[in-house]
Amino acid sequence: MKAHIITYGCQMNEYDSHLVQSQLVSLGADMVDSIDEADFVLLNTCAVRGKPVDKVRSVLGQLRKEKAVRPLVIGMMGCLAQLEEGQQIARKFEVDVLLGPGSLLDIGAALESNQRFWGLHFKDELHDHIPPPPVGKLQAHLTIMRGCDHHCTYCIVPTTRGPQVSRHPDQILRELESLLGAGVREVTLLGQNVNAYGFDAGARLAGYPSFADLLRLVGGSGIERIKFTTSHPMNFTEDVAVAMAETPAVCDFVHLPVQSGSDRVLRRMAREYDREKYLTHIGQIKTHLPDAVLATDIIVGFPGETEEDFQDTLSLYDEVGFDSAYMFIYSPRPGTPSYKHFQDLPREVKTERLQRLIVKQKEWSARRNARFQGSIQEVLLRGDAYSAGHLEGHTRGNHPIVVPRAIGAEGAGLYRARVTATTPHMFYGELVGADNQALPLLPNLAPEAAALSSPLMMV
Ligand code: SAM
Ligand code: SF4
Repeated sequence: MKAHIITYGCQMNEYDSHLVQSQLVSLGADMVDSIDEADFVLLNTCAVRGKPVDKVRSVLGQLRKEKAVRPLVIGMMGCLAQLEEGQQIARKFEVDVLLGPGSLLDIGAALESNQRFWGLHFKDELHDHIPPPPVGKLQAHLTIMRGCDHHCTYCIVPTTRGPQVSRHPDQILRELESLLGAGVREVTLLGQNVNAYGFDAGARLAGYPSFADLLRLVGGSGIERIKFTTSHPMNFTEDVAVAMAETPAVCDFVHLPVQSGSDRVLRRMAREYDREKYLTHIGQIKTHLPDAVLATDIIVGFPGETEEDFQDTLSLYDEVGFDSAYMFIYSPRPGTPSYKHFQDLPREVKTERLQRLIVKQKEWSARRNARFQGSIQEVLLRGDAYSAGHLEGHTRGNHPIVVPRAIGAEGAGLYRARVTATTPHMFYGELVGADNQALPLLPNLAPEAAALSSPLMMV
């Protein structure tokens, strides 16, 4: 079988795609790079906003046409698969294999059954499953928990991914050991709400550390860089900031989604914290980690959001001075309380607010990034950049960076770089040795290739 997986959505989906891909490979599948070469195409879907759902519809339309003219098995997994909306789409587009986020290990049974197979149960064995490490990668994801116990009124995730289940720390450490053995140097711990790790259904699980202690535990494993996402302000504790400061491997990068700066909107979103509590956490982070890079998520145009509420979001942005933000227009999702009970705002109001927020974000990102100008950063380089003769990667603070190749740094690896230029979205730099002197460029690297010509924008 020749299989191809297309992944939409979050880092959790990337982890799940890797998990399913390793199952497929163990069943003898040959993974191929395009739909044209594949006889099994699997879409790993996202249901958080309407746009990724539209994208899935359009690709499934294309696949259904292909299936009419050649043997093709169509699969759909991930959040959309778990929803009635997704199941209707699956029927319409003749999907053969449908796996919800809790049934991923059914992939083998699904393919063996040779008939339409829908797996929609949340199965415990997934939490003990350790996928093989990714091949040749320096960076990996590690899921520490699945599901979510919160009920934010706009969010479909608790429906699609079920209640929170924390993985046992022994499984997490075993998986980490396997990643380390494969040469991984940076790991991102994943969960919808990592700060609630070890507190499933609000109760502390016996034998499970708190998230802060898990960071300390993972920090002692020998891994060089640890990141984590996503934190929820409701469950954030000062001890997490303390653990980050005490544990050298944990990067000074905190992604703490605020969603809105207005208490009225936060209440309607059922976020379970207010502006003051959020700012208290930011103060704790800044006290223990003065150089921390701060990222957030913001939804604009939530139902009932007034201009005054939006001004509260803009003023909160100024008060915190975020390094970066993922900004979303509110998307009404069938099955969520806000879809059922609240009136959506006009599209042009939401779009206009997003434009103003983007201006704010760019100003702050430019200012915050400029503070790194001239500094030496540890960079994890993944491989070739878009511009010839360059490598791309990211810093401990998650800033994308591009550097010219140099002698002793020809390919992927963990290096030191001086930041020579910054934009709101990117760093540019040069690789340096232990003495902070620039490493000589490769002899065949033309001077024009070393010059940073066209800044790449991260969208
Ligand atoms: N668990 C994380 C938290 O609570 O912050 C976030 C997980 S969610 C999958 C990722 C982001 O998608 C959220 O932080 C939110 O900003 C955004 N999001 C979720 N539902 C949305 C919706 N209906 N419309 C627009 N953005 C949405
Ligand atoms: Fe969705 Fe809220 Fe859970 Fe995050 S905490 S996944 S936004 S319900």
